[in-house]
Amino acid sequence: MMEKPQRTFGPVYLEKNFQTGALVSVLTTEPLNRFLDYKAPEGGCDLGSFLEVPLGPRKVLGVVWSKGSGTFDINRIRSAYRELDVAPMTEDMRQFLERAAEYTLTPLSAMLRLATRAPGLSNPPSMQKVYRLADASKGTQTKARAKVVEVINDFGGARFTLSELASQAGVSASVIKGMVQAGSMIEEQTPRDLPFPDLRPDQTGKALTSDQATAAQALRKKVRQGGYGTTLLRGVTGSGKTEVYLEAVAECLKQGQQALVLLPEIALTSEFMRRVEARFGARPAEWHSGVTMTERRRTWKMVGEGGAQMVIGARSALFLPFRSLGLVVVDEEHEGSYKQEEGVLYHARDMSVLRASLAGAQVVLASATPSLETWANAQSGKYDRVDLTSRYGAAVMPDMKTIDMRAEKLPASRWVSDELARQIAQRIEAGEQSLLFINRRGFAPVTLCRACGEQLGCETCDARMVEHRFQKRLMCHQCGETKPIPQTCPACGVADRLAPVGPGVERLAEEAQSLFPEARLRVLSSDLFGSARALKQAIDEIAAGDADIIVGTQLVAKGHNFPKLTLVGVIDADLGLQGSDLRAAERTFQLMRQVAGRAGRSKTPGTAYLQTYQPDHPVIHAIVQGDEEAFWKAEAREREAIGMPPFGRMAGIVISSTDLALCERAGLTLARNTAELVALGAQVFGPAPAPIARVRGRYRVRLLIKAGKAAPIQAVIARWVAQVPQKGDLRIAVDIDPYSFL
Ligand code: ADP
Ligand code: ZN
Repeated sequence: MMEKPQRTFGPVYLEKNFQTGALVSVLTTEPLNRFLDYKAPEGGCDLGSFLEVPLGPRKVLGVVWSKGSGTFDINRIRSAYRELDVAPMTEDMRQFLERAAEYTLTPLSAMLRLATRAPGLSNPPSMQKVYRLADASKGTQTKARAKVVEVINDFGGARFTLSELASQAGVSASVIKGMVQAGSMIEEQTPRDLPFPDLRPDQTGKALTSDQATAAQALRKKVRQGGYGTTLLRGVTGSGKTEVYLEAVAECLKQGQQALVLLPEIALTSEFMRRVEARFGARPAEWHSGVTMTERRRTWKMVGEGGAQMVIGARSALFLPFRSLGLVVVDEEHEGSYKQEEGVLYHARDMSVLRASLAGAQVVLASATPSLETWANAQSGKYDRVDLTSRYGAAVMPDMKTIDMRAEKLPASRWVSDELARQIAQRIEAGEQSLLFINRRGFAPVTLCRACGEQLGCETCDARMVEHRFQKRLMCHQCGETKPIPQTCPACGVADRLAPVGPGVERLAEEAQSLFPEARLRVLSSDLFGSARALKQAIDEIAAGDADIIVGTQLVAKGHNFPKLTLVGVIDADLGLQGSDLRAAERTFQLMRQVAGRAGRSKTPGTAYLQTYQPDHPVIHAIVQGDEEAFWKAEAREREAIGMPPFGRMAGIVISSTDLALCERAGLTLARNTAELVALGAQVFGPAPAPIARVRGRYRVRLLIKAGKAAPIQAVIARWVAQVPQKGDLRIAVDIDPYSFL
C-alpha cells in the first residue's frame, strides 16, 4: 500500500462567499489599468473565481480579486454572465501576480494574460471526440497513415482531436477516419480534460552514490519540512543532478503536493520525460510551445484542479495555476533563455523564487556553473547549497587545454588549427566523436563587397545580414527578415565581388568536411531544423554514434549526452569576451565549461581545446584551471567594487519609435527630470543610441539606471517614465535587472 498523501487532489468544492448579485471587484485581461465592479453571477462565486463578464459589447475573462469597491452607481453595475468551469485562482497565485507585476513594472492585466494562456478556458464542460492509436499494423500501410502514427508516437501516444491530428500530420481528416475503419485507430468520446495518470513516487529510483544520496537527503528533508526555501544544487555536468533532484520531486509528490521542473530548452524535454517516466511509472504534464492545444488546455485545467502532479515546462509554466505547489526545480538555472526578452520582461528563475516564497514551496536551482546572482545568494546564506563533486561512474571531467592561435599560422579563411586537426584525426581513427563549437549561426557573419567595401545590411535594422548558405539566403538576426544573396553589390552595382568574411557554423562545417572528406559530419544549429522533433531525431542519431564530427552552436552546450564524444574544440574562445556586457566574463566561463562538459561523459576520458588569441586572459585561465570558486570570487569582487549586479541594481530603459526625434526628445525629458531617482541614490546614464540603434524600422534610444541593492526603484521609475507624453508610436520599455544591453 502506498503511503496516504497528506493533501488529496480531486474536484474543487467551492464555498460561495458571494451570493448571486453581491458586488465583486474583478480583474480582467483587458488593458484597463483598474478593477471593475460586477454583480456575482447566478449561483454566486468566490474570491479567485474565473468569470465571464460583459465589457461594452464584448464578453471578457476576469478573476474575482476582492469584494466590490462600492464606488460605482449600483444601478449601472452589470451582472457577470457566469462562473467558468475551472478551479478558482488561489490566494497565493493572486499575490504572485500582484508582486510580479510590481517588480517588473507590468500592468496586472498583462500578468493575468500570462496566467491564462490556454485555449478554450471558457468552453463549457463537455465531451469531445478524440483519436488514439490502436494497432498500427492493421489496414493498408500508406505514407499518409505512417505520418499519423509517427505524430502520435512523437507526442508520446497522446490523444488528439480530428482536426489537430490532421494538421499535425499534414494529412486530410479522411485519412484518420479511414484508419478508424481499418482498426488501426480508435475514436472515442471522453470528457474534454482528463486528469494525468498517477505518478508513483514510491517506486525505487537508481541506486545513488554516497555523494548523491547525501545531497538527495538534504533536499528531501527540506521538502518534507515544508515552507519556503531555496537551494543551489551545484555539480559538474554528468554528476547526477537530475537523479538527485528527482528525489526531491519524489518527496514532494509523496507529500501530496505538486512539482514543477523548468528546463531551458524544449529540445531537452523528451529525454527528460523518458527519465521521469522510468522513475515514476507515468508521464507528467508538459507545458511549452511544442505541446498541442488540446493538451495545453488539459494541463492548465488539471494543474488548477490538482489532476496534474508534476509539470515539465518552459519558463511560462511558472504562470500555471498550481493548486498546491510544493517544489520548483530550475534546471541549468544560469541559462540566459530564462530571461523573457519580449512582452513582459521577467526572469523565470527570480520569479520562481518569488512564486515559491508566496506558496510556501521549496526551490532547487541546479547548475554546473551557477549564475553569479545565485552563487552570491548561496555565499551570503540566503540560499542553501548542496554540491556534487564528481562525475557519475567512470566519467571524469575533460582535460582543458588552450591552443595559442598567435603561434598557428593559418591561411586566410581557415579556422581549424593544425593541432586541433591532428586531434580530430586521432579521434576518427579511434572511432570516437569530435565536437567543433562556434557560437555563431549561419555561414559568415559579414558579407562584404570587395569593390566598394559595402557590408550588406538589413533594410529595417541597424544590423548586418548574415549569410545562411544552406537556405541560400541572407538573414537579419534581429528581425528575422531574409532575402536572396545578390549577385551584384546593392551599393556600387559591381557584380561577383561579394565575399563572406569570418566564420559561422556552416562555414566551419565546410572547412571540417574539406579537411576530413571521409568523415561523417553533422551540423547542429537551431535554424537548421524545421521542428523540435527533427532536432531531437538528429540528437538521438548522433548519440547513437551516427557522426564522426559534430559542428554546432550553443545548442549543443545544453544537456545532451553523447557517449562517444571525447574531443571538444572551441574555435574562438575569445568571442564572448568582446563587447562591454557586464556578464561577458561570466557567460564565457559558463559556456566554455558547459561545452567542454560534453566530452568524456562515459568511460573514455575527454579533452577540450580552446583556440584563443589571448591564452593569458584571466577568464581563459580560470576556464582551463577549472577553479570555479576562484573565478566566482574574483568576478564577485570586481562587480562589487563597481556596484554592479548582484551587488547593485540596474534597470534598462528602451525608448523606441519610427520617429527618431521623438525618441531623442523623450530621452532628454527623462534625463532632465531625475530628482526623485537621484534622491534614492540612483545614477542615470544616457540617453544614447542603443548598440542596435534600429530594429524593424523603429529607432531605439537607451537609458540605464544603477542603484543600491535595496533601493526601491520600481515605483520611482514608474512615475519617472510617466512624465513622457504618449505621442505617436512611442514606446518605453522598462527592463528591471536587464540581461541584454543591445
Ligand atoms: P547532470 O544532471 O548532473 O548532468 P545526470 O543526472 O544527467 O547528470 O546524470 C548523468 C548520467 O549519469 C545520466 O545518464 C544518469 O542516468 C547517469 N547517472 C547518474 N547518477 C546515476 C546513478 N546513481 N545510477 C545510475 N546512473 C546514474
Ligand atoms: Zn532586420
